[in-house]
Amino acid sequence: MVLIGVTGGIGCGKSTVAALLARKGAWVLDADLCAREALQPRWCGLRAIVEVFGASVLREDGSLDRRRLGELATASLETLLQLESILHPLIFRIMAVRLAERYHLDSETVAVLDVPLLFESGLDVRLDTTVNVFCGAAWHERVLSRGDAMPERVRHLLRQRQLPEAEKRCRCTHLLDNQGGLQELESQVDVLWRTLQGLRGSVWPEAWERYLTP
Ligand code: ADP
Repeated sequence: MVLIGVTGGIGCGKSTVAALLARKGAWVLDADLCAREALQPRWCGLRAIVEVFGASVLREDGSLDRRRLGELATASLETLLQLESILHPLIFRIMAVRLAERYHLDSETVAVLDVPLLFESGLDVRLDTTVNVFCGAAWHERVLSRGDAMPERVRHLLRQRQLPEAEKRCRCTHLLDNQGGLQELESQVDVLWRTLQGLRGSVWPEAWERYLTP
């Protein structure tokens, strides 16, 4: 199994690239979906979050009030990092479980992990290769056109949390420029996919061992 991490800023086109790779035969694992799962009752995330952020993050029925947690976690960089320190290990664990399930189905899988904070979370070292999607100022228009109502204050905080673009460019193996149209992006994904064909997986399962053992 080959593991490929796709990252980039908000609205830069990570999911679009992942979907294009899926059309070519890749299997996609979305970190945002794993983060949602981490807050389901079967995992210990919700309990840990209540311990840190207080019971006001719960609705009367005991389920998570996402809006309230969002407000508290984005109060400062410190609270955002606190939330990440609870969620990231759990998200990695869920990813490891999903990858193991996938490996049993098809050990030749090309797995694309769509991860917003790939380098910042340290997940990059557990992958065979990394792709950074860059879109310059185009993200603004795209995010607005998809009706993303994130306040500027929160957007600013999330940008603060991300590595500077220049550093991500240095650290990634492949860079996709998504400042142009979708066809231009597709052509770059075609080239990327051909390059990936020659890649042999070497990190699975060893690099995930600590997340595979409960
Ligand atoms: P991310 O996953 O990085 O947040 P998305 O892939 O969801 O970003 O892209 C954000 C929005 O921009 C989506 O509505 C997507 O369809 C659109 N989009 C992505 N790339 C392009 C492009 N090259 N041209 C036009 N729209 C694009």
